[in-house]
Amino acid sequence: MKKRWNCPECGSGKLLSSRPRKNATDRFCLACSKKNGVLVERVCPTLEKQRTVKAEKAKEAARKKRAKAKAEYVVHGVDLMAELKRVYKAARFLEPELRSRLPQLTIHRSKTNKGTSGRAWGFRHRIHLTCGRDVEDILYVLVHEVAHLVMRARDYSAPSHGDAFKAAEAELLAETKVTRPSYRRIR
Ligand SMILES: [Zn+2]
Ligand SMILES: [Zn+2]
Repeated sequence: MKKRWNCPECGSGKLLSSRPRKNATDRFCLACSKKNGVLVERVCPTLEKQRTVKAEKAKEAARKKRAKAKAEYVVHGVDLMAELKRVYKAARFLEPELRSRLPQLTIHRSKTNKGTSGRAWGFRHRIHLTCGRDVEDILYVLVHEVAHLVMRARDYSAPSHGDAFKAAEAELLAETKVTRPSYRRIR
């Protein structure tokens, strides 16, 4: 279907296809081009409007996608991705050998547990949390798992819950102001 293309200067219009060739004569207002000494290109208001609507839709879709991605990491009102960023930043401050890239975080929501369990894979640079109801414990386990990544960077051969690990964990807890829930025994 042909569409109206208008000269932005004098308004004279031409009916052209939606995608006229770049060098199609009618794409340009020759009278205004001659007057200005440079080519004056016609614009198609219908297409401009469609483009704007499309851009707005894409923007809205991107916003929804971001909101959804964020919601995936929100557990009991706490944004665990934001917490991971905060904890990991502190960890990098304490252990500069840590990779700069944020570890991959996957979470699962337990319907029954109060406490949280977690796992860290140093080589894969990944943390998984199975989140319980207690937010304090979720944050503690997050710090605990990041401490495992710290130890992997610091001393690969250290026992996984040995003294060096406990010291690294304590350091990271202090730095991030996260506390270990009183009911959780020290492993
Ligand atoms: Zn014109
Ligand atoms: Zn552990």
